[in-house]
Amino acid sequence: MLNELTIWELAGKLERREVSALEIMRACLDRIERVEGSIHSFISYDAADALEQAAAADRHLVGGTTRRQKPLLGIPIAIKDVLAVRGQPLNCGSKILGQFISPYDATVIEKLREAGAIVFGRLNMDEFAMGSSTENSSFGPTRNPWDTSRIPGGSSGGSAAAVAADECIAALGSDTGGSIRQPAALCGCVGLKPTYGRVSRYGLVAFASSLDQIGPLAKDARDAALVLGAISGHDARDSTSVEGTAPDYTAALDGRIKGLKLGLAKEYMIGGLDGEVGAAVQAAVSQYEKLGAEIVEISLPRTEFAVATYYIIATAEASANLARFDGIRYGRRVEGSDPIDLYCKTRGAGFGAEVKRRIILGAYVLSSGYYDAYYLRAQKVRTLIRRDFLNAFDKVDAIITPTSPTAAFKIGEKADDPLQMYLSDIFTISCNLAGICGLSLPCGFTASPKLPIGLQLLGKPFGEETLLRLAHAYEQITPWHNEKPPLER
Ligand code: GLN
Repeated sequence: MLNELTIWELAGKLERREVSALEIMRACLDRIERVEGSIHSFISYDAADALEQAAAADRHLVGGTTRRQKPLLGIPIAIKDVLAVRGQPLNCGSKILGQFISPYDATVIEKLREAGAIVFGRLNMDEFAMGSSTENSSFGPTRNPWDTSRIPGGSSGGSAAAVAADECIAALGSDTGGSIRQPAALCGCVGLKPTYGRVSRYGLVAFASSLDQIGPLAKDARDAALVLGAISGHDARDSTSVEGTAPDYTAALDGRIKGLKLGLAKEYMIGGLDGEVGAAVQAAVSQYEKLGAEIVEISLPRTEFAVATYYIIATAEASANLARFDGIRYGRRVEGSDPIDLYCKTRGAGFGAEVKRRIILGAYVLSSGYYDAYYLRAQKVRTLIRRDFLNAFDKVDAIITPTSPTAAFKIGEKADDPLQMYLSDIFTISCNLAGICGLSLPCGFTASPKLPIGLQLLGKPFGEETLLRLAHAYEQITPWHNEKPPLER
């Protein structure tokens, strides 16, 4: 089945004219029709528009456009509902945006189009990217393709499930505290959160502006490298994007990792770590040793403060960013007796419970009298957390951890216990606080039920090449990334 192949496999077939972009797009749409009833990765998709883009890609191919010129030519890539795509609905998994249609393309979307990709679909997510299970979507939950009674992770749960279920070839997600890596781990795909500044966020609806990054969810490391290469680079419209052009990330995929130093943090050996997850990560560490990497013990002493720090900074920024959803400029409006009443009614009806909780927490930590005690302190701790990582990176090239303390949990299992849900981010959020890059890749399965386990690699600022090199080398000697969920085939 064409929809089961990777970008690089399909790009070869397209260039040799063994298949057409239309055939690939049709294979994805057929698959969506067959499995969406049980997975619900998409909030919506426009099949006619996707087929039109595919036909245009085929005309480019006939005209002689090569893979070197357009590395994603004719490849269907689906988009998380938090990124602006011109003419498409933009809801962020929320009701508050109503019938809003985006008037412009995000920079990453422009870049995907320049690279030739077929940009399609609105992938389900936790409302405004707040969550770890995709249960907070106003459009209903997404289900894990490996076991549909379980969550796919979040907040980019739709992106991970769609890639794992072969409904698209790759997807974009966003990651503020783990939202690309954790669902990638729980669904068995590769997810990469780039370094802060690597990818422009112009056209990404902001959750926490000092933490948000856009990145790929893909079937293997090479595909993640291809998508990252396409979306990276400086953009004058995002002042936090760094100057200069991004490297060719596929050049790092030569299998050579001998002599690289991998750090194991003693603070990450936590009590709540599931036994099978721990064993799979241990086995991966041994594989890396076999490949010639050197394992070094490191310390990240402020790890215990990461979750608390994150939930102060992220909620503070969210309360400011989400102030714009007031029923005046766009989205839904619930009329009121005066403007304040209108805001209250609109926001009361439009936002879900988790978003309200975060806005209230964020407004509280920023309020006068509490600002110094919470927000300012959290900023200081954040600096120390970043320093921990930079110190560790004096000794090692990358850090190896589990992505999530457990495999996918049951739908509803943690829905009433926000603190339990927040704690499932323990291994992923420090990366965003430190502004470094992180990647999750499949490293095994639990026995019964069979659920994917993710391995996380954390890298130096702008060290994405090292992460991709490490992930690719591991894939060459392990079968995990090739396994498919037991859905109707
Ligand atoms: N699960 C985390 C949260 O709920 C991270 C979300 C994200 O990365 N967008 O905030």
